[in-house]
Amino acid sequence: MKLRSLLRLVVLPCVAGVAPSALRAWDYAGHRLVNQAALASLPADYPSFVREPANAERIAFLAGEPDSWRNNTDPTLANGVQMDHYLDLEELEEAGLDPLQVSDLRYQFVLQFAAGRAAHLDHFPAIDPAKNKDHSREWPGFAPWAIVEYYGKLKSGFSYLKTLEELPELSKPEEIENIKMNIVYTMGVMGHFVGDGAQPLHATIHHHGWVGANPNGYSTWYGIHAWIDGGLIAKAGITPAQVTPRITSAQPISLATRPDGRDPMFAAMMDYFIATQKLVAPLYALEKAGKLGNDKITALPDGTTHNEPRPLTEEGKAFIETQLARGGQMLGAIWLTAWRAAPPDTYLRSQLLKRQPAAAPAK
Ligand SMILES: [Zn+2]
Repeated sequence: MKLRSLLRLVVLPCVAGVAPSALRAWDYAGHRLVNQAALASLPADYPSFVREPANAERIAFLAGEPDSWRNNTDPTLANGVQMDHYLDLEELEEAGLDPLQVSDLRYQFVLQFAAGRAAHLDHFPAIDPAKNKDHSREWPGFAPWAIVEYYGKLKSGFSYLKTLEELPELSKPEEIENIKMNIVYTMGVMGHFVGDGAQPLHATIHHHGWVGANPNGYSTWYGIHAWIDGGLIAKAGITPAQVTPRITSAQPISLATRPDGRDPMFAAMMDYFIATQKLVAPLYALEKAGKLGNDKITALPDGTTHNEPRPLTEEGKAFIETQLARGGQMLGAIWLTAWRAAPPDTYLRSQLLKRQPAAAPAK
């Protein structure tokens, strides 16, 4: 039913006609474009330090940071962070869970999924322990939860900054600079996962070629993921100039209380991934129609393959540019919401106020 997530971490043995490829999300270039698009979407009244050239460059650069963690193959790290890059939504259904009802709390969801998986074990293939050292294969991925957690960290950063700036006579310039750097870091890193959420192959079990029943004859090519992540973007030469015109000024995400009691930011992120999953079949249809610019690979009787180059079409290029822009639009909306929703940090304020006697001039 599925190629498991560990396969995202390894380098494929070379198959004739298919170059080995590190398995990533959008490659660095794509993730960078998402973060840059998000920066371009921010309204004029957003804290201006994020647009200072060095900070804007750092936010763009940090889009690649979570993928650099993948170069460390320690199972302990992989188990903690690698499953934050995706959500194979079909697995929730296989476990008898409704994505619109699962818990917004990561570890409550873990309990729900574990119970659902155990009750429907026949829906899941056996796991080869040798290929599962990080124990990722038991899980569908946690991207929406990870993004909401980063949103909370960003909101916390803005709470800290707002409080320091409200009490300039009690705060220290280095404290303000440090919290700004923390905000820049969080914005940049979280952008990676929001960008992943715009890549259709990060919301499905069909992440490295179609698996299972395949009535439409979609490609089972393992390399489709790497092609969407980077090959197509490189072939098309997509730059910010092609992506940013597709975005509009960021609008905050509604934080109104929901009837189902779930966290509204989490609900928005789950909706985002569900919408992305709806693009999986259209993406495979584009590939089948030869519109994505990847080689047509034909197996030959002698065991080798024949690669037939195919041109990248405007339709295929537009599909990817739209997704990069969609990721940037969502990321800008999350950043904007975090800044606006951040309340004062009352604990920090109480601590700053204790400084007053020492800071007051001697009488
Ligand atoms: Zn990723």
